[in-house]
Parts: sequence; C-alpha cells; structure tokens
Amino acid sequence: MSFPIVRHRRLRGSAGIRGMVRETVLNPLDLIQPIFVTFGTGVKNEISSMPGVFHFSLDTLKEEVDEIASLGIPAVLLFGVPETKDAVGSSAYADEGIVQEATRLIKSWYPELIVIADTCLCEFTDHGHCGMVHTHTAADGTVTGDVMNDASLALLARTAVSQAKAGADIIAPSNMMDGFVQAIRSGLDEAGYEHVPIMSYSVKYASAYYGPFREAADSAPQFGDRKTYQMDPANLREAIREAETDVLEGADMLMVKPALAYLDVVRVIRDQFDLPLVAYNVSGEYSMVKAAAQAGWINEKVIVLETLTGMKRAGADMIITYHAKDAVRWLRE
Ligand SMILES: [Zn+2]
Repeated sequence: MSFPIVRHRRLRGSAGIRGMVRETVLNPLDLIQPIFVTFGTGVKNEISSMPGVFHFSLDTLKEEVDEIASLGIPAVLLFGVPETKDAVGSSAYADEGIVQEATRLIKSWYPELIVIADTCLCEFTDHGHCGMVHTHTAADGTVTGDVMNDASLALLARTAVSQAKAGADIIAPSNMMDGFVQAIRSGLDEAGYEHVPIMSYSVKYASAYYGPFREAADSAPQFGDRKTYQMDPANLREAIREAETDVLEGADMLMVKPALAYLDVVRVIRDQFDLPLVAYNVSGEYSMVKAAAQAGWINEKVIVLETLTGMKRAGADMIITYHAKDAVRWLRE
C-alpha cells in the first residue's frame, strides 16, 4: 500500500512555498476608504459604534486625507452630514453642499486621489429615506409614507451632476430606486460629464449590518424602513436581475452590499457579469470585529486580513472598508 500518494502538505511546508502557490493576494490598490464629512469647524469626533472612524469638518479633514494618501490607498468614498435637512434633501445637490465642498478640497490637495461620491438623499432628508416621500398621518399621529420612485430620480441625477461638477471622479448611487442608473447617466451626459463613471450599488440588501452607519451618517429613517426599495436578504436570483438592469442602464461597476453575509452573491455576480465588482464591507461588519478585538477575543489584524482576502476570493475586485488604513499598514509590514 503506497498511501498517501498525494501529499498536500508538500506545498505548505514553508512561508516561501505557501507564498508561491497563494491564489488570492490582497493589494492596497484594491481598497477604498470611506470618509464622513460634517459641518462646523474643529470637528474630529469618533463615532461611538465605530472605533477609529471619525466625523471630520472641512478644516480638520486634511489630516485624514494626508494619511490615506501617504498610505497609497487609491480612493475615498465620501459621505456627508449636512447642517440642515429638509423633505427633499436639497443640501445633497447644493453647489456648496458638504460633499461638494469636501470633494473640491480633496482634489485640490491630491489631484491623483480618486474621490467617489455617494449619491443618495437619506443623509440630507429630514425623514431619512433615500428619496422623496409621500406621507400620511393617521388620526393617532402615526406617520406612514411611500418613497416616490420617479420623482426621486430627478433629484438623484441633480445630486450626481453637482458632485461631478465639484470634481468627483466616480459617482456611486446607493439609493436603490428603479431606473436610477439610467437617470443619473442621462443627467451626467446632458451636463457634459459623459466621462464620469458610475459605480452602482446594484445589489443592496435591507440589512441590519448598516446599524452603526446610520449613527455615523445620521440617516436612520424617521418612519418605516427601507424594505420597499432595498433587497430582501433571502434573495439571490433577484440580485442577478438587479445587476442586469444596471448593466443595461449603463453602470460601469457593480457592487454587492453588505459583503460578509453575502459572499455567495459576490461570487454569482462575478460569474454572471464582466464589469468590475465592488464589495462593501459595511459598518456592522467593522464594529463586530472592533468590539471583539477590544474584548481581547480575536486577533484583529489576522481577522481583518482574512476577511478581506475572503471577499477577494469570492470575486470582488475592490473592497470598500473602514479597515482600509489599518489593512494597508499591516500588508506593508
Ligand atoms: Zn440612502
């Protein structure tokens, strides 16, 4: 008996040989760092549920951007917390809006750093929904409402145009209205921004993993939830239909959000479509790792690199992650 004929352990015998046969390599160039910008001056406030992630006002932002640029992270994703909110999210598409101002500053400091503008209304509306709402107040004071799809599209296109005008390199619409890619593409083209790509949040689930983000972006819905526009976590075939629609409407990149509980979705979208694919390693995924690391229950560095590598192995070309700065430091060690 000549067992074992096959010895898998031959290729695991040393760090050198393991490196030679490694199939998936995480690269700093794969990572995108989100940034939260807010109004006021002198603000650098840590978000309590996201240790290590801060709100920055425009006058404190440079320190953060300097660090990101010096680490060689190629891109940032901007979220804005405005001073005033209203029913139609008008500060989302104001030329002097917080995201527009931050974009101009970052591009003036680092012309090569890619600025991705998140295009949605929920951070800018007083009701916290991603589009315009039609509300109804019952006799007992209970407010209900519907998000109006087509009426919201014009505002989203207007937001994207104002972001492109401020210098955003990529428009990333996250609102999940039907037809949003086409509406934004048309708006950008008509305004002369036909060269600006769209990174579509194509497959975005109605997920409890967004909880810490809603504190960070102050964007929790004031009534109802987002289940009429974000996807049911149980659905996979529907993810293919969502992505297919975005491809037909002219999306340049696709996204799956969240990432960790949806790696099967990442793999299916990777296999079905040939556009670059982004996975969003969301706030709740980040906060769980941070909490466990603070309790001393896990090795944060190894867990983070393993998780991000898993997302790449599942098929993501790029990963939006709050761990980006740490991950790049660890990759360079
Ligand atoms: Zn939104």
